[in-house]
Amino acid sequence: MSEERSLHFLEEIIEADLKKGTHDGRVLTRFPPEPNGYLHIGHAKSICLNFGLAQQYGGKTNLRFDDTNPVTEETEYVESIKKDVKWLGFDWAQELYTSDYFDQLYAFAVTLIKKDLAYVDDSTAEEIAAGKGTPTVPGTPSVYRSRSIEENLQLFEEMKAGKYPDGAKVLRAKIDLAAPNMHLRDPLMYRIKHATHHRTGDAWCIYPMYDFAHGQSDAIEKITHSICTLEFIPHRALYDWFIEKLEIFPAKQYEFARLNIDYAVMSKRKLLQLVNEKFVNGWDDPRMLTISGLRRRGYTPASIRNFCDKIGVAKRENLIEMSLLEFCIREDLNKTAWRRMAVLDPIKLVITNYPDGQEELLHGENNPEVEGGDGSRSIPFSKELWIEREDFKEEAEKKYFRLAPGLSVRLKNAYIVTCTGFKTDDFGNVTEVHCEYIPESKSGNDTSGLHVKGTIHWVSVAHAKTAEVRLYDRLFQAEDPSNEDGDFKEYINPNSLQVLSKAYIEPDLATAELGRGYQFIRKGYFTLDTDTTAENLVFNRTVTLKDNWAKKA
Ligand code: ATP
Ligand code: MG
Repeated sequence: MSEERSLHFLEEIIEADLKKGTHDGRVLTRFPPEPNGYLHIGHAKSICLNFGLAQQYGGKTNLRFDDTNPVTEETEYVESIKKDVKWLGFDWAQELYTSDYFDQLYAFAVTLIKKDLAYVDDSTAEEIAAGKGTPTVPGTPSVYRSRSIEENLQLFEEMKAGKYPDGAKVLRAKIDLAAPNMHLRDPLMYRIKHATHHRTGDAWCIYPMYDFAHGQSDAIEKITHSICTLEFIPHRALYDWFIEKLEIFPAKQYEFARLNIDYAVMSKRKLLQLVNEKFVNGWDDPRMLTISGLRRRGYTPASIRNFCDKIGVAKRENLIEMSLLEFCIREDLNKTAWRRMAVLDPIKLVITNYPDGQEELLHGENNPEVEGGDGSRSIPFSKELWIEREDFKEEAEKKYFRLAPGLSVRLKNAYIVTCTGFKTDDFGNVTEVHCEYIPESKSGNDTSGLHVKGTIHWVSVAHAKTAEVRLYDRLFQAEDPSNEDGDFKEYINPNSLQVLSKAYIEPDLATAELGRGYQFIRKGYFTLDTDTTAENLVFNRTVTLKDNWAKKA
């Protein structure tokens, strides 16, 4: 933690535990993703919190795949999750799987049956739901609730042996059908599911429910602080009940507010729909707030960690502004991105008094923000340049400091030029801008004594490389698409991707590296996209230089 700030509630809890000597001063957290999708920025918050707290207090963090649902889970997701956690900059103490505990969890269930604290129920899902009552009306016991311990043991074993079809029976905890907390009204512990599991194959046809797997896994690993999101508050009593009745390690659950970001959706279920229904090009589409999407877009691990640090740890749900995330990446890239020139919407500039066939190599700093510099590159200059169409006007208006007949600008890293005229086609569209340069005004050695207000970027026509450039806008038009009427997909921004198929870039960018940030001067921060091939360079705009969303909204 760099800035001074007061402790957040989880830090207070841990410090109090350390003071009391709870768990012998040990701190062990876990990050427990279900491998049913790619990680998103919300998970990054949980990762930074779990790993961050452990680092802060000399503890450790386990990576535990919560893989109790064979139908939705896949090895592809496991691999992507490991990659993303590492990329964010964290190392786990142990890589664990809830499925590794299936034998132990089964034994725990048998223990509860033997204590007459669990029973096999043959009721249908509807009957069970109806029997739970409502928050104000107590539930009614199922006729199977009074089964003998022996019968329960036998039936549970038969469930495990595969004697019954899906849904025929469940194992339920015997707690209290009148409990004000609905989660305590004889919750399910096991269900029958004849499905192949990505790790245990067909070894099991009964699978533990989240509530019977999570706390027990925490106890098996001796997790000291089990941190989850607010929706699990009502589950806490059950978490504690199982641990108490099983007399196992007293792990404790603590809840914080999940991260929500405006103009975005965050749940894996919704992200999966966007992928499957082809609203985006895969989990790592640069418009997605997945870790892989952000990486491809050009976000750095440091910017994401910094963002998670800045938003803090809340106990109440809120909506964080996307502009804060963008602020964090701008701040980081300003310090690290190499400055380059690229013309996205080109028009030709001819320097009429520059000798035909002459070429110069000009000097350009990689990053003037870095103290002592960050190296430099040479930029070829010649008589014909590409400039942005918007940097020329046929007639200058007040306070216009770029090119127009009679006006002068500095060409970045090069000379001052004065516009002398332009050419149009038969339809009156400007096809070429003409200017004259001042030889004494060369950047770094300017003896002209002239001062101009505007500086524009350019690329030499003879030396330019071409690239495809992808510009992104927010994926949703509604501030909180999940809380609007109808389906969240109705609020997708139809203009979230703009592809410029032929931008001109300075030749040095032909050797751009994946994972490196580049500032295209005046145009934003960009990074090479993984779609790049030897023939076709593709750049993503990570973020504009300024927050221009604020103006639009
Ligand atoms: P989703 O609803 O997106 O599928 P989840 O909670 O089901 O999320 P898990 O894989 O079960 O996803 O989550 C792993 C961990 O990440 C959990 O501890 C969960 O609480 C945490 N987490 C998930 N989403 C967020 C979020 N938006 N903000 C903070 N933590 C989150
Ligand atoms: Mg989940």
